[in-house]
Amino acid sequence: MSKYVLAWAKDEKIREKGRFGGFITSLLKFMLEKNIVDYVLTVKKGENFKYTPILTSNPEEVVECSGYIIYATPNIAKLAMNVKDKIAVVCKPCDARAIIELAKRNQIDIENIFMIGLECYGTFLPMTLEKILKNLKIQKEDIKNIEIVKDELSVFIKNGDTIKTKLEELEKMGLSIRENCKRCEFIIPRMCDLACGRSTEDKTTFVEICSKKGEKIIKKALEHNIVELKGVNEAEIKAKEEEEKFAVDMAKKWQNYYFKNESLEERRDFWFGMFNRCIKCYACRDVCPICYCIDCILNPWRPLIEGGKVPPSPSFHITRIIHVAESCVNCGQCQDVCPVEIPISRIMHKLNKDVQEKWGYIPGISLDDKPPTLR
Ligand code: SF4
Ligand code: SF4
Ligand code: SF4
Repeated sequence: MSKYVLAWAKDEKIREKGRFGGFITSLLKFMLEKNIVDYVLTVKKGENFKYTPILTSNPEEVVECSGYIIYATPNIAKLAMNVKDKIAVVCKPCDARAIIELAKRNQIDIENIFMIGLECYGTFLPMTLEKILKNLKIQKEDIKNIEIVKDELSVFIKNGDTIKTKLEELEKMGLSIRENCKRCEFIIPRMCDLACGRSTEDKTTFVEICSKKGEKIIKKALEHNIVELKGVNEAEIKAKEEEEKFAVDMAKKWQNYYFKNESLEERRDFWFGMFNRCIKCYACRDVCPICYCIDCILNPWRPLIEGGKVPPSPSFHITRIIHVAESCVNCGQCQDVCPVEIPISRIMHKLNKDVQEKWGYIPGISLDDKPPTLR
């Protein structure tokens, strides 16, 4: 089977509902119905652009989850850790990378997981998207879909109109995608079994088959007449490569901006100033998919950090950085939850880039590549 295929659901209702032809939905439904997996872990759309993770064994519930995501969702890896059954997980590249890092630390049995990756061009916090729509005078109930295409946000309206805005314009109004997403260069989730994204053809998913498991499940779905496939022509592959290159170049530009070459003193003053704001709520630690110790050394009953004192000693942050930096997947969850708006993912990502440069280790790409401290 070729590495790339265009795919869509055989079931017309599922095809119609899905932005890209319902391929993922029909595959998940099939996997549950045939007991190939016990559960599907995905996210379900809620009110006001908030997405809730769900673990379901109900094929019909999977159909309800169909849709394209450009809103921040909780990192799915943390939830996958607690499931011991066979599951299919729908994940963004940062979720998938975290799953792989957890598997390397024996926190997830990767044999039990089938990963369906969604290409990702960035996500918005729900309140940012609310403000954007207010500015554009768009009613939520009129929206069919929202997507980022290159440097534009496109809002597809149910009446057939499309409203486009340059991301640069939104940036000027302080309405950008999440900071970590701006720096993210992992657009296509090739670390998954299948990497799925938009195609130039309507109601069709561009699928990159990334593992033997991925190939096997597609063949099975074809045998059972669940999906339809066709080959991908050169122009389609070129369009995908160009889209990816555009996004990676943008990410590098933002990395240069956020990781600017300041003096040691400037960096120290900035970060220690930030750490002084900390109210030691532990939210950044608790949400981080890479932090998994049951009795964390930062707990108040451990000797490292003095209990009942805020801001905590800088050791609190330095310890987290030392523990996480080599495997930080830049998912941005720590920054999203910080009540005092410390841009934590920025320092974690920067130090991870330094680890990448020094030890040539890129987290979350391959199970065979061990982090420097596990070598
Ligand atoms: S960090 Fe990357 S993969 Fe994760 S949501 Fe942002 S753009 Fe998508
Ligand atoms: S440190 Fe922050 S950005 Fe890095 S993996 Fe943990 S939560 Fe994600
Ligand atoms: S989330 Fe923010 S305030 Fe809470 S412990 Fe982390 S850095 Fe401190």
